Amino acid sequence: MPFKSSAVKRPSLDRKIKGLDPKDVGVILTRLTIDRRIPPVTQFFKGGTSQGKARFDEFIKGRLCRYAKNRNQPQTDDISHMSPYLHFGHLSPLYLALQMKGVDKGSLEAREAYLEELIMRRELAINFVNYTLNYDSYACIPQWAIKTLAQHQKDRREYIYSRIQLENAETHDEYWNAAMREMKLTGFMHNYMRMYWGKKMLEWSRTPEQAFQTMLAINNQYFLDGRDPNSYASVSWVFGLHDRAWFERPVFGKIRYMAASGLERKCDIRDYVKKVEALAKRV
Ligand SMILES: Cc1cc2nc3c(=O)[nH]c(=O)nc-3n(C[C@H](O)[C@H](O)[C@H](O)COP(=O)(O)OP(=O)(O)OC[C@H]3O[C@@H](n4cnc5c(N)ncnc54)[C@H](O)[C@@H]3O)c2cc1C
Repeated sequence: MPFKSSAVKRPSLDRKIKGLDPKDVGVILTRLTIDRRIPPVTQFFKGGTSQGKARFDEFIKGRLCRYAKNRNQPQTDDISHMSPYLHFGHLSPLYLALQMKGVDKGSLEAREAYLEELIMRRELAINFVNYTLNYDSYACIPQWAIKTLAQHQKDRREYIYSRIQLENAETHDEYWNAAMREMKLTGFMHNYMRMYWGKKMLEWSRTPEQAFQTMLAINNQYFLDGRDPNSYASVSWVFGLHDRAWFERPVFGKIRYMAASGLERKCDIRDYVKKVEALAKRV
């Protein structure tokens, strides 16, 4: 059922703020205490409901039919890029779900796959944050995960990188570096690369606690969709939340692991690196 439209009781659009013109965004921004080291990413994302609607329309008309097959293929753009619009409330999940109704029947599998992410995965994250007091700290991950990571805390790490090295994309792994570059250039990263990005930070940090803090901080600093329930649930997923125990291995214990060789087998990772190089040329 679509939402019924109702009039806003106290409209704020014409509200005057003493000494400030709400239309003069540039002046307002100069007055805010924000991290100015991070440049705008407007050549990749433009905010606002009309922009979000146009982008979603492009997705359902052109790429949705490939979503089920390609959503783990980071070299493609067969995803919706809706997370920033959802995060800032420019579009509602209900609007997106209702738009799906008009899509032709041939795309049933794609539609179902999309709704699974938009409704199930997203609401799982919202519930997690709503019902977990310490959702933003290492202590929120499940007990079995804390235990197995503690048992492997002293394992030798082949690589250890500082937060600065990570943020500067200065690791030995060109796939990971490409993902970090995508994040900094665009304020976004493909979901499959977010998974790899997180897993490697767990592998390359001195302790899992440190990995958690650094990952959450970088996630929330650079992603347009950061500081969202999805941010906290997904970073915790890297450490075993909403997942099951896997085969035991060094550093990770029973936490799910991801390898560069897996990327090479499962997707066209070289093409992804080229895609990020092309994005860098647009800046
Ligand atoms: C380490 C890590 C960090 C992440 N950080 C964030 C974050 O800060 N903010 C954020 O919104 N998402 C985060 N995600 C989840 C997911 O990667 C993004 O929601 C998704 O990539 C956004 O792209 P999209 O809108 O094109 O997704 P699509 O694939 O088009 O999916 C549509 C919508 O479904 C929801 N969705 C999709 N995948 C997931 C998922 N795995 N979990 C929960 N909801 C999902 C999102 O609302 C998304 O906008 C993270 C995932 C990982 C593994």
